Amino acid sequence: MKLYSTNNKDLRVSFKEAVFNSMPQDKGLYMPVEIPQLDADFIENIEQYSLPEIAYKVASTLLKDEIPAEALKALIDEAISFEAPALKLDDKTFVLELFHGPSLAFKDFGARFMSRVMAYFLKDGEQLLDVLVATSGDTGGAVALGFLGVPNTRVTILYPEGKVSPIQELQLTTNGQNIRAIEVKGTFDDCQALVKQAFADDELNANFRLTSANSINISRLIPQTFYYFNTYAQLKKQGLQDVIFSVPSGNFGNIGAGLLAYKLGLPVKQFIAATNVNDTVPRFLETGIYEARPSTQTYSNAMDVGAPSNWIRIMDLFSDDVEALKKMVTSYRFNDEETLAGIKEIDSRFNYVACPHTAIAYLAIEKFRTKNPEDESAFVFLSTAHACKFPDIFPTDIAAKIEIPEQVTALEILPRHADKLNVDFNGFKHYLMDKA
Ligand SMILES: *Cc1c(COP(=O)(O)O)cnc(C)c1O
Repeated sequence: MKLYSTNNKDLRVSFKEAVFNSMPQDKGLYMPVEIPQLDADFIENIEQYSLPEIAYKVASTLLKDEIPAEALKALIDEAISFEAPALKLDDKTFVLELFHGPSLAFKDFGARFMSRVMAYFLKDGEQLLDVLVATSGDTGGAVALGFLGVPNTRVTILYPEGKVSPIQELQLTTNGQNIRAIEVKGTFDDCQALVKQAFADDELNANFRLTSANSINISRLIPQTFYYFNTYAQLKKQGLQDVIFSVPSGNFGNIGAGLLAYKLGLPVKQFIAATNVNDTVPRFLETGIYEARPSTQTYSNAMDVGAPSNWIRIMDLFSDDVEALKKMVTSYRFNDEETLAGIKEIDSRFNYVACPHTAIAYLAIEKFRTKNPEDESAFVFLSTAHACKFPDIFPTDIAAKIEIPEQVTALEILPRHADKLNVDFNGFKHYLMDKA
C-alpha cells in the first residue's frame, strides 16, 4: 500500500513511513493511493467468518504485502482480542458494543492495532520508540493499555490534575512496565502544549525517537473498518442486508473508517453522523459552508471537537464531491438536554444503559426514522464507550443499573503511580532527559 497526502496527491510514502510520521510535512493527512475492492465472494459469504478472520481479510486487501501474512495474522489476533457484538434491541434496531476492550472504549481497536504495527516495524534492533500523549481521558487509557508490554516502546502520558474521571485515572496510573503517567497541574490544553513543544525540541529529538500515536494515524483508522464488516456479517446471518449505521462523532475518525469500509466494498445504505452541539459537520452539510469553531463542553465530552481532524479524509474519499457525500452521509446534532432524554428513553424502551455518546447516536436514528418513515432498513447505532466511564451524567436510578466490568475491578487493587509536574516545559524536558 502506498499513501499520498490529502494536500499532495503526487506524494508516495510506504505504510511504515506513514505510521511513524502520523502526519505528512505539508499538514495534510495520509490516504491510500488505491482503495482495492474486497472479493465479491468474500462479502457474499462473510457471515461464515469470525471477527479476526474478517479483520485479516480487510487488512491484507488494503495493506497488500506491507506486512507478511503470518505476521499480520498474529498481530491481528493479539490486537483484536475482544468481541464487538451487535446487540439486538428490537427487530430493526441494534446497538454495536465497541467497549469490550481493556479501556472500555472503541479507541482500543485503533490503539491496540497501531501499537502492534509499530512494534512489528521496530523489531530489528531499531531505536526505542517514545510515545508522548496528552489526554483529557479516553485516548490516554486506550494508548496506555494498547502499548502496555509492547516491546521496544515506552509511553509517557500527560493528564490534567483533577480533570479525568476516577476510572480513567485508574487506567492511566496502574500500568507500570513501559507506561508512565504524569499528572500536570494545569488543563488539558497545557498538557497538549507541553507535548507539542517536546516534538519541536531539537535536543529531545536528537536523543529520542518521538511519536505522537494520535488519532489521525492511519494505523488507527484501518482497524476501525473491521467492525463495520463484522456487523454486516452479524446482521446478514439474521437475514438483514439493508444496513444504516449511526456513528457518534467528534474527530470523525470512526465514521471515516466506516466510509473507508464502504469504499472497500461493504454493502451499506447510509451513514448518520451524530454530533453534540459541536456541530461543524451538520452545519456544513446544511449550508455548504465549512466553519470550524472553538469547542463547547458537553456531557458527551469525547465529542467536544470544533475542528474535526479527520474530516478532510472523508472529503478525500468522495473526491470533494459534496453532493455524492450527502447521498451517503446524513448528520444531526443534539444538545445535553436531548442527550439525557435519550439516555432515559433507551433505558425505558429497551432496559439498556447507554453512555452519553451512544445516546446521541440513538437519537440520530430516531430522527432519521421520523424523517424517513418508509425506510425498512436495519439500524445500528455504535456504542463507543461503557457507561461506567461517565458516572456523573446518569440519574441515580439508571446509574444503579451500571455494572462495573472486570477490566476495571482488576485495576482497583493495583498500586497507582503518577509523577507530578507543573506547567513548565523545562521541567518536563528535564524529566524526559533524566529518566531516560
Ligand atoms: C473518541 C470518542 C468518540 C468520537 O470518535 P471520533 O472518531 O473522534 O469521531 C465518541 N465516543 C467516545 C466514547 C470516544 O472516546
